[in-house]
Amino acid sequence: MALGHFLARQGRDFVILEAADKPAAAWRERWDSLELFTSARYDALPGLAFPGAPDRYPSRDEVAAYLTDYARHFDLPVVLGSRVRAVRKTDGRYLVELDDRAYEADQVVIATGPFQMPLVPSISAGLGAGVVQFHSTAYRSPQALPDGPVLVVGGGNTGYQIAEDLAASHEVHLSIGSKQKPLPQRILGRDLFWYLDKTGLIRKPAKSRIGRRLQRNEDTLIGSSPKRLRRHGVELHGRTIEAGGTEVTFIDGTKLDVRAVIWATGFQADHSWIDVPVFDETGRVVHERGVTASAGLYFLGLPWQHTRGSALLGWVKDDAEHIAQRIKERQK
Ligand SMILES: Cc1cc2nc3c(=O)[nH]c(=O)nc-3n(C[C@H](O)[C@H](O)[C@H](O)COP(=O)(O)OP(=O)(O)OC[C@H]3O[C@@H](n4cnc5c(N)ncnc54)[C@H](O)[C@@H]3O)c2cc1C
Repeated sequence: MALGHFLARQGRDFVILEAADKPAAAWRERWDSLELFTSARYDALPGLAFPGAPDRYPSRDEVAAYLTDYARHFDLPVVLGSRVRAVRKTDGRYLVELDDRAYEADQVVIATGPFQMPLVPSISAGLGAGVVQFHSTAYRSPQALPDGPVLVVGGGNTGYQIAEDLAASHEVHLSIGSKQKPLPQRILGRDLFWYLDKTGLIRKPAKSRIGRRLQRNEDTLIGSSPKRLRRHGVELHGRTIEAGGTEVTFIDGTKLDVRAVIWATGFQADHSWIDVPVFDETGRVVHERGVTASAGLYFLGLPWQHTRGSALLGWVKDDAEHIAQRIKERQK
């Protein structure tokens, strides 16, 4: 939608194809109590401020409402219920295939987000049928879980937030595979992202020396910490290495009997439907700030596409503007 904003300003003929039946689908599918880790000041797409006090942390539903309103406000041509099944190159143009129709386009931007395929470790297959288990994408609220010990696997922001959400009503355990550095959400009364923005760190290119260092620490915990979770009564464990029946084993050999497991173990990109040779041998997109070697094919919203801000609401506009400019130059 950020790109749509810039393309509309150019007066370009374009369409935004969205698989879901409602806008902001990725946000609607997240858990009920989700609170953004970026304050409202940094949750706006280009040209329309995020409503309300700038220093608060908006909820999932507020973001969904904002994005829906954004499309309406700029009259963006979003076509819902339109999953793209394939993108192919034909005679210098692109054929974009859906179940019921196809489009021919001179230029195509893939902005399908970094959170496509839920990643669940294969050890999950060892859990018995009596254990309720699902990926964090299926988690909505504590009511969906049976009584008894719940294990949340994954020590990123998602795992921490879900463990805390469950702690008031359940016995909760959190398994942390690799420790992430906890950062306070507010420092001396200011939001963390205020510092990242003002110091320019959020806009440091991925290839710069400082950008490379930041990428190594990318999975940083924001606003949560082991100490905070312990205060909520959550018991912390190391990596989960085995699961059998109702029992899981952690890396230190300790075991836990569980009633439910939530896999907050991340996502994998799925670009298998893009039939254009722009991927390396590991399946990663080869690009220069979203511009691929296949003329007229772009990506937007990849993590670290150009900077730490590339896949965040408040900073995606920089890459969107860059891609919009490339599109303009090519279409002349
Ligand atoms: C738990 C969680 C918390 C987060 N909190 C924050 C936060 O506090 N602040 C922040 O800035 N960012 C946050 N993010 C990151 C945030 O989600 C991204 O900034 C943003 O959603 C990325 O937007 P996007 O449009 O690139 O991708 P998405 O929002 O994932 O949207 C991609 C869209 O593409 C559609 N789609 C996928 N495949 C196809 C296809 N083949 N055809 C048609 N449509 C398709 C999907 O239905 C989806 O609507 C969070 C992410 C997660 C997972």
